[in-house]
Amino acid sequence: MKTSANSSRRDFLRTLSLGTGASLAGAAALAKPLRWLAGGPAADRQLGVALVGLGGYSTGQLAPALQQTKRCRLAGIVTGTPAKAAQWKQQYNIPDKNIYDYKTFDRIIDNPAIDIVYVVLPNALHAEYVVRAAQAGKHVICEKPLATSVADARRMVAAVQKAGKKFSVGYRLHFEPHNREMMRLGQQQVFGPVRHLAADNGFKVNNPSWRVNRALSGGGPLMDMGIYCVQGCLYTKGQVPVSVTAKFTPNPDPALFKDVEAGLNWQFQFADGAVADCRTSYTENMNGRLRAEGPKGWAELAPAFGYGGLQGRTSQGPMNLPNINQQAAQMDDFADCILRNRPTRVPGEMGLRDVQLLEAIYRAAETGQKVATTDVLQLIDRTSAGK
Ligand code: NAD
Repeated sequence: MKTSANSSRRDFLRTLSLGTGASLAGAAALAKPLRWLAGGPAADRQLGVALVGLGGYSTGQLAPALQQTKRCRLAGIVTGTPAKAAQWKQQYNIPDKNIYDYKTFDRIIDNPAIDIVYVVLPNALHAEYVVRAAQAGKHVICEKPLATSVADARRMVAAVQKAGKKFSVGYRLHFEPHNREMMRLGQQQVFGPVRHLAADNGFKVNNPSWRVNRALSGGGPLMDMGIYCVQGCLYTKGQVPVSVTAKFTPNPDPALFKDVEAGLNWQFQFADGAVADCRTSYTENMNGRLRAEGPKGWAELAPAFGYGGLQGRTSQGPMNLPNINQQAAQMDDFADCILRNRPTRVPGEMGLRDVQLLEAIYRAAETGQKVATTDVLQLIDRTSAGK
């Protein structure tokens, strides 16, 4: 979908009005704010999270992380599989009244035990469930990529804004020490202005699943793994690129990758002449790497994007930073944003920005032309850079 400078300006206005609207909508709640700010009982409350979609990420990462969170807890589930409902109910002590399927989901509007709905479904289903969650008056976290089209992403941001609720993308790495250090080093220009970035991320897909079905995924490894490279380059450079060139890699298995790309290489160009070279693939196990070079040195994470075991080095030596439970940190921060009525560093608009860039990368690969990205939402997480 083509975005115009006008629609970009509209995005800005929406973002601004989101902030204002949220604080106005919060005005009533802020009748009791002083107690909140003072860390009173409301601020100490654990918010209830309902996970929508109990697949690999919910089962392996989010539910275990929710056993470690302080500001929120696993309170409910939404699943189409009764056997999973029974198993989760027992394992996590979830009451029947907090268990929904995809048809009964909208009844969550009547359930005060659920404050946050976390959408962890195949990409193409994100839009529907985010909008339904917003209409049910819930705060929302949505997994990456936010949506499979810019139009859907805009619809989702608008729906949560209209509901006066907070909206976040599951960008766990903004809460991860090594990646936050890359933000600091790059954005504070510790090695001088970043001139070159390199990022890759991918894994070998051997079997059919929704990930290679365009109707459910919206695209191949770019949507799934390459988005980490997009993110890493932007938060390290601290800028949104002005243009992109891209090329699909050869497809070694046209039967498996009939619907989505097997791999993609692209380059972002930034206003100051810096470039970022990125690679993603479903035919190669890449460890996940993020490297930034400036005139006075370099910094690199490898692996850069996993759930743990991240390692970083700079031209001056090892980073020696801890690995933490990223998902617990991400969800606790969002709960804190709600409880203290402050903005999240990974808002829905950031997810929209990235979908705009993903579409530009695809357009560059399809046309073989350089595609301008100057109309993309200008939004950068500066929380680590201390600016
Ligand atoms: P998965 O295939 O393991 O799980 C998908 C879930 O959706 C399953 O429980 C499935 O039953 C359910 N589902 C409901 N309707 C479906 C339909 N029509 N077709 C297929 N499945 C349907 O996938 P996953 O790895 O858990 O990924 C889910 C989302 O989480 C994706 O958006 C993915 O990008 C994201 N994710 C994020 C991270 C991260 O690190 N942030 C990691 C993994 C996945």
